[in-house]
Amino acid sequence: AKQAYTRAKPHLNIGTMGHVDHGKTTLTAAITKVLSDRGGATFVPFDRIDRAPEEAARGITINISHVEYETATRHYAHVDMPGHADYVKNMITGAAQLDGAILVVSALDGIMPQTREHVLLARRVGVGHVVVALNKADAADPELADLVELELRDLLAGHGYHGVPVVRVSGLGALRGEPEWTAAVEALLRAVDDHVPVPVRFTGAPFLLPVENVLTVTGRGTVVTGVIERGTVAVGDTVEAVGLGDGFTAVVTGVETFGKPMERGQAGDNAALLLRGVRREQVRRGLVLAAPGTQTAHRRFTARIHLLTESEGGRRTAVTTGYRPQFYLRTTDVPGRVDLGGDGLALPGETVEASVELGRPVALETGLGFAVREGGRTVGAGTVTALPG
Ligand code: GDP
Ligand code: MG
Repeated sequence: AKQAYTRAKPHLNIGTMGHVDHGKTTLTAAITKVLSDRGGATFVPFDRIDRAPEEAARGITINISHVEYETATRHYAHVDMPGHADYVKNMITGAAQLDGAILVVSALDGIMPQTREHVLLARRVGVGHVVVALNKADAADPELADLVELELRDLLAGHGYHGVPVVRVSGLGALRGEPEWTAAVEALLRAVDDHVPVPVRFTGAPFLLPVENVLTVTGRGTVVTGVIERGTVAVGDTVEAVGLGDGFTAVVTGVETFGKPMERGQAGDNAALLLRGVRREQVRRGLVLAAPGTQTAHRRFTARIHLLTESEGGRRTAVTTGYRPQFYLRTTDVPGRVDLGGDGLALPGETVEASVELGRPVALETGLGFAVREGGRTVGAGTVTALPG
């Protein structure tokens, strides 16, 4: 039988972010390498981290871009994204569940456009805590690294991230087992342990899990994965799928995390749920699984939307009623039409009330945050303020 998951330490969800080629995947592999030497992880080599989930599906497994590890005090699920577009799609839509982020910045290159965008988006979607891995320190001149560190502190403070630990590391050196850089990765993990607090989990609320991925496990059925946003779930519970079309209810016949069975999944866990009698085609990323009767899908809502300025990466020109951007809500993105009321005009930098009509119904509730994107870039961020009665 598979080894069961024991909830001995607080569980946190973190992820790497930062500009392409600054060393996110190398560092992710290096962390598992360093911790595997102390029994806190299974080493996951670089070329295994970007593998497609279907290829790796064995048992009830979860999306392979997650790795898990343990420090002395915590259990972590860690997300690493292959590219900028994946970052936006996977992290931004699911980022409400990221308790902290490791911002990877190459000391050789310094702040680059995706460094800026990821910091901005992390703030917008509510990632409360950031730790910087100033990477490639093996190859960078220390004085150059000092400069990069100063600029980074400026950038982070500008987005409300104060007192951020900056740790000089070499993912590559640690992966090669070099003692200096192994110690640096250990220092980085200590900084994460110390700086990212254990979040308050809403385990008492009705169960809610935004679907990230759906897999078919031969001989067992359909498995749905995602981070539990609220509540708890156990074998035998009935869950309701809401959004994007016809909903259904199903009984949960298995709950796992990282391939290990759990008695009960709870808010914050990276969970895989086996659903009885559900066909793969019935479930899609972007649905939510919820305690029956607790969530409803909507196409219309009113929202408060902040339009980013051009220097924040936003639009140069105003938007008008009839504007049709893409809305990123939890794990989905759908097109929508914006009605601004009044003079029907909003300028970059403004925060406005708007009515939105989505192209497809999505599980919504007041207070839910979302990102507004167009042409592959984030132009705004908003919050659902009301749903039609
Ligand atoms: P990602 O796109 O941010 O995931 O970056 P990768 O982890 O794929 O690394 C990009 C490149 O930088 C690869 O050629 C790595 O070998 C190299 N690299 C990563 N970490 C380090 C480091 O600490 N030192 C040096 N010198 N090179 C590194
Ligand atoms: Mg990578």
